[in-house]
Amino acid sequence: MCSHHYLRTSLFSGPVRCSRLLVHFASPGQFSKKLWQIYLKYLLGTIQTLALQTQKANFCFGHTCSPSVPSSTLVALVPPPVSPLPPIVWQLKGRTQPSKAPQEPHSTATPVSVPVGQAWAFMTVAYFAIAPAFRYPKRLHKVVRRLVPNCDVRFLLSESGSTKGAAMVTAVASRVQAQRKQIDKVLALFQLTREQLEDVRGKMRAEFEYGLKKDTHLTATVKMLPTYVCGMPDGTEKGKFLALDLGGTNFRVLLVKIRSGRRSVRMYNKIFAIPLEIMQGTGEELFDHIVQCIADFLDYMGLKGAQLPLGFTFSFPCRQTSIDKGTLIEWTKGFKATDCEGEDMVDMLREAIKRRNEFDLDIVAVVNDTVGTMMTCGHEDPNCEIGLIAGTGSNMCYMEEMRNIELVEGDEGKMCINTEWGGFGDNGCIDDIRTQYDKKVDEGSLNPGKQRYEKMTSGMYLGEIVRQILIDLTKQGLLFRGQISERLRTRGIFETKFLSQIESDRLALLQVRRILQQLGLDSTCEDSIVVKEVCGAVSRRAAQLCGAGLAAVVEKRREDQGLEYLKITVGVDGTLYKLHPHFSRILQETVKELAPRCDVTLMLSEDGSGKGAALITAVAKRLQQAQKEN
Ligand code: ADP
Ligand code: MG
Repeated sequence: MCSHHYLRTSLFSGPVRCSRLLVHFASPGQFSKKLWQIYLKYLLGTIQTLALQTQKANFCFGHTCSPSVPSSTLVALVPPPVSPLPPIVWQLKGRTQPSKAPQEPHSTATPVSVPVGQAWAFMTVAYFAIAPAFRYPKRLHKVVRRLVPNCDVRFLLSESGSTKGAAMVTAVASRVQAQRKQIDKVLALFQLTREQLEDVRGKMRAEFEYGLKKDTHLTATVKMLPTYVCGMPDGTEKGKFLALDLGGTNFRVLLVKIRSGRRSVRMYNKIFAIPLEIMQGTGEELFDHIVQCIADFLDYMGLKGAQLPLGFTFSFPCRQTSIDKGTLIEWTKGFKATDCEGEDMVDMLREAIKRRNEFDLDIVAVVNDTVGTMMTCGHEDPNCEIGLIAGTGSNMCYMEEMRNIELVEGDEGKMCINTEWGGFGDNGCIDDIRTQYDKKVDEGSLNPGKQRYEKMTSGMYLGEIVRQILIDLTKQGLLFRGQISERLRTRGIFETKFLSQIESDRLALLQVRRILQQLGLDSTCEDSIVVKEVCGAVSRRAAQLCGAGLAAVVEKRREDQGLEYLKITVGVDGTLYKLHPHFSRILQETVKELAPRCDVTLMLSEDGSGKGAALITAVAKRLQQAQKEN
């Protein structure tokens, strides 16, 4: 290129971060239109080449034209891989023209798609003043704007870029490299090796056995609770049922109409809020509130006075002795109402109905949401023997051989076991993979020391883990200019839904930054990249851990049935599973890897807790009827 000795470009960093880019023109003389075009061609060509080579052109702009800096130093300045971004086609022909019209691209005959990072949008191009009479700046702005219409490129006048800039490149590069190392060290804590995941699978399997055995049941951390749900729907169930769904973010009352024949279920539901003071007030207040909601719903549906069978989805660990008895072992997921632990939840509901003395309901079954989820999918797919929840909490149930359940008499057939696997690790067995951040989240929770696996895998906690990491990285001076804002200090600001948003492949870095800004976290472009990586590491580990647990149960099912190969379906529900952009895929991949002899289909359950509770109630009613007739 004939012109580049006129030019010097170098990377410039302000005293704090190095996200600003300097294109420095040291040309003292005239800069003709022709020269400008050649220069731009050269510049864009090099960006293009680099972008194609590295798949990320975020900061390549400056490096490429700087002949004095060895490229190895510069690699450190290239941000870590960001997801593939929409291509921008560079086009330049003679005078530049808007990139919309099909034109001959510069220097080559075919259009080249360049996955230029959206970090462009934050780029600041600086330049040195050229002959004042010359309309160079105007042209530069115009051309760049035309070439990258979607990017907001700011131009900044530099005073003495060349010498200062060149000296800073090396300094910046080594600092960035060192910082990168520190960040990677933190992220590495969340990267589990295959051996570690196999270890988790093995330990989970061992805990299943402890929970099932009489001697170890009471002390087991994975409680393996019999549910007294033995039969799957056979398609003959029908009727109108009420269902309650308590155990997460929302409390719902549902009317479920099941018509004979598979798949014909109609549902009407209403969501009611449970105020924090009721969640954490007394048990009586909680159940009075629930009954109030039921009354509202019946009113709303025009069903006042109707006596309907009711299935109560109550998604907390309960010890059951029959399908309509469930003693709460302990609250999880932010509930803390007093006088409930150790009490029968069905009794408490019945008493509250009595206190109100307005209607009567036939409470047929108390159901865990995992069981409802399994039932719902089982209604459509007879291979479905497992229910999984990845929502506020994390839990799993599955059909176990009666002969393996020492707590329940009888050896024939199967019964659904609610594993309550969220408590896995409470005996310290996975402390080797718990990080300081997990421990912080645990300490700040309502139930410290409990539900350790759940706290690494479920929606209620993932955002909090991310927040803890961000605080630490900021303390280390690696994020947010080292300033821990009041916002970042606020527990719960980083909700798990933000992980989903930030990790979305469709989202440009600029949008990630906007989300962070909405959260009150004033971030640079590089901060956004790091935050995205942190979110990815946390959610990935969650999905993998969940996959390792699932691998343990499918392998158990395969072995118990003496099968070479098992085909099995898992009914899954929960917003984390449904809305996170990568969770379900990583979960599936992990199960496949850790249980190679099982063909596991994950089936999304449409409203497992509502429909499932009704189906269980229907099955229970059918069995009751059959018993009466015999
Ligand atoms: P629950 O488990 O409470 O019955 P859900 O399955 O709807 O209800 O899960 C709600 C939880 O999902 C919330 O507590 C939140 O942590 C998480 N969540 C909400 N929105 C999203 C989202 N967009 N992506 C991932 N997780 C989310
Ligand atoms: Mg739910």
